[in-house]
Amino acid sequence: MWTSREFGRREFILDCAVLVIGLTSSTRNLHAASDFYTVKEVKPHIYAWIPDDVIDQECDPLFARAATAGFIVTSQGVVVVDTTNSPMNARDLLYEIRQRTDQPIRYVLNTSSAGDHMLGNEVFTDEQATLVSTKEAQTEMLQYRDELASRMRGEDGWKLEARMRGFHVTPTTLTFDEKMTLNIGGQEIRIISVLAGDHSPEDSVVYLPAAKILFLGELFDNQYFPRVGGRNVHRWIEVLQQVESWDVDTYIPGHGVPGTKKDVAEFRGFLEWVVASVESRLKQGQTPDAVQKGLWLPRTYNWHAPDLAQDTVADVCKQLAPAHAAPPPAHPSGK
Ligand SMILES: [Zn+2]
Repeated sequence: MWTSREFGRREFILDCAVLVIGLTSSTRNLHAASDFYTVKEVKPHIYAWIPDDVIDQECDPLFARAATAGFIVTSQGVVVVDTTNSPMNARDLLYEIRQRTDQPIRYVLNTSSAGDHMLGNEVFTDEQATLVSTKEAQTEMLQYRDELASRMRGEDGWKLEARMRGFHVTPTTLTFDEKMTLNIGGQEIRIISVLAGDHSPEDSVVYLPAAKILFLGELFDNQYFPRVGGRNVHRWIEVLQQVESWDVDTYIPGHGVPGTKKDVAEFRGFLEWVVASVESRLKQGQTPDAVQKGLWLPRTYNWHAPDLAQDTVADVCKQLAPAHAAPPPAHPSGK
């Protein structure tokens, strides 16, 4: 049973079962910091900022759930990974950093151009941080900024303007092609572009080899349904298989709490199940519409963000349907 309650600017969506589990086990090692998020020291000086399953009321409704973020504290400064979905949440993130260190914020690494991972960037520009992403992700952020301006000029744009009052969309300022390595305070931090091409959104991962930690951004959601969009699902599954073999023991997701190889494999299994189910139905000749209506998720996927589950199936259908469409009728010979 799902319940929702209004809490000022945010709305809680809590699955009772998940809540009970959360209270009994997952709070261990979590440092309670507010009602809406927790901060976990995943390894010494490496932290994850983990929002609860909350629908923010003051943000772009397309990106109403804040992403999990991270920060790495070194003797020569702080590196932040993703900045959540609003300057308000990013200020909470900065507050948590400042509870732990006075070091300057040197870099922000954006794993994705998605609004829920970068709409807090402006807070760190104020801190003189350099904002880093792939060139493609930077282009997508610039596009988002332009599109947001036209959405605000459109019908009902005033509502969006009211929700995003005072937001300054802040694209990255430093870009890289395939990968970039930072060496700060004895910590090697690699940001690596994956899933390039195929008109997919550009995603990056952040790898800390000594700590055996990998930030996977939008490519891994731990017990949350993912946002597929135009991301190439076959390539996505391959990338997850690859990173599961890396020398990593903690995978920090785009949404949810840090996980293990088993959690990443379970998430990959979900993508594989959706792809296989959609493909077999399309092969049987079902229309994409019929596939979407007829495909029910197994009860085992009792995950957060169930409102995205139907979109997941719809996006996979949209992506795979053209390969199964009947060939166009042969051109008449003209005789
Ligand atoms: Zn996200």
